Amino acid sequence: MALMALPNSELLAPTVTEATKPFWDWTAQGELRVQRCSDCRRFRFPPIPACRRCGSLEATWEPVEGTPRLYSWVVVHRSVSPDIPVPFCVAVVEFEDDVHVGGNLLYDPEEITPRAGMPLQLGFRDMAGHAVPVFHLDD
Ligand SMILES: [Zn+2]
Repeated sequence: MALMALPNSELLAPTVTEATKPFWDWTAQGELRVQRCSDCRRFRFPPIPACRRCGSLEATWEPVEGTPRLYSWVVVHRSVSPDIPVPFCVAVVEFEDDVHVGGNLLYDPEEITPRAGMPLQLGFRDMAGHAVPVFHLDD
């Protein structure tokens, strides 16, 4: 089985900033949480210091709800570095409340053809010391 998994490479290690640190602290505990604006209540991903809609600097971190579903994806066939083997698949996944999160989509391309709306399973894998969200596409 040839899963299209990103390698555990320092080149792909997440950059932790003041805005993203809570996200990584939650994933380290096995939870996927996203920012929610304390003023207009809009969810936002990736984490950013200010709300795109209302400019508020206040936010809470709330767990994603519901079954993740495949929203969009791209298979990368050309690597930017010999240390990053291809192919791999990057996806945008949709949760309830119109929450969209990006991550690596893991599946066997010889067994499964991705389709929009397919249910996924959330998992985490270590990448350079961070628990990175990944999504498993099973048949
Ligand atoms: Zn807002």
